[in-house]
Amino acid sequence: MQKTIDLRSDTVTKPTAAMLSTMLSAEVGDDVYGEDPTVTRLEQELSERVGMEAGLFVCSGTQSNLLGIMSHCERGDEYIAGQQAHVYRWEGGGAAVLGSIQPQPLEFELDGSLNLDLVQKYIKPDDAHHARTKLLCIENTQSGKVLPLSYLADARKLVDANKLQLHLDGARAFNAAVQLKVDISDITKHFDSVSICLSKGLGAPVGSVLCGSKETIKKARRWRKVVGGGMRQAGILAAAGLYAIQNNVNRLAEDHNNAARLAQGLSEIDELNIDQSLVQTNMVFVNLGKLNPQKISQALGEKGILTFANQTMRLVTHLDVSSKDIKIVIEAFKEAIGQNKNSSEEELTQPLRGALY
Ligand SMILES: *Cc1c(COP(=O)(O)O)cnc(C)c1O
Repeated sequence: MQKTIDLRSDTVTKPTAAMLSTMLSAEVGDDVYGEDPTVTRLEQELSERVGMEAGLFVCSGTQSNLLGIMSHCERGDEYIAGQQAHVYRWEGGGAAVLGSIQPQPLEFELDGSLNLDLVQKYIKPDDAHHARTKLLCIENTQSGKVLPLSYLADARKLVDANKLQLHLDGARAFNAAVQLKVDISDITKHFDSVSICLSKGLGAPVGSVLCGSKETIKKARRWRKVVGGGMRQAGILAAAGLYAIQNNVNRLAEDHNNAARLAQGLSEIDELNIDQSLVQTNMVFVNLGKLNPQKISQALGEKGILTFANQTMRLVTHLDVSSKDIKIVIEAFKEAIGQNKNSSEEELTQPLRGALY
């Protein structure tokens, strides 16, 4: 049987036998009572690693970001984030819907940063006409791109000068740390809070952890209950998270190598366009130029390679994609393109989807 190679996201990873066995033997209790030792251990271990006082295990990165924003901001406050940032574009407007907190989106620079002069310009004066600007949200990695440590230090200076808080959507912050060959705390030390996903490249089936000061996490814990996120014997899930941070961090480098190899191989195909300078961690963005994305995606699918049919196709490597798979994918692209060379004039049968997380 042909293997499925799923390049749609790093969220598609399935727990391994070793991970499942730690879940089966996890010690559990009622975490809403604070009595689940495995959840507590995960929260402690991760918050120590990022150099923060406390952590909170939650069901998703979306909830983690929401609780982070709601802990820093109140009704009538504002957070600044990227136009394409997950906290603005991809979370159903949660902070506005549930927190009455207004977003101020700004275009990302090509490198995934927010221009700090522009951020400064958009911080509102204290005036009854304006929402109160309270928080700056940064994403790292952003579409697979790693922000320089010096940029993070500059962002910290800006928020300090303006009495704002700084939140890191670090869904893939470990990818950034591994790429820079630094400790994750070298990244997170600039922030007041950080959200880290366990269910992306780290390979856990469920969960994120929000870390911050004791005071921030106390507020977040309250909001978690309010949004229905208090889980009971959640240690079964936290055990997978613990396994992930203990075993699957350093291996992210393999995903990065595979993405680089994939980008290199595909860039040798004339019809495809890839900016290899933007391939820094586990994502490759392939511009299909004149090719019909649905035809290409379908032809790949017939070979067991799963992609989303976008003009700029995002391919994500993860622990269920091997270096051997990369060769298979490159060959499959060549064949798919050979079969569909002049497909661009054909009608698209479905609307294209935007960038995906
Ligand atoms: C995936 C992702 C999230 C949210 O994670 P979910 O667990 O899918 O809710 C947040 N931020 C970024 C940058 C992500 O990629």
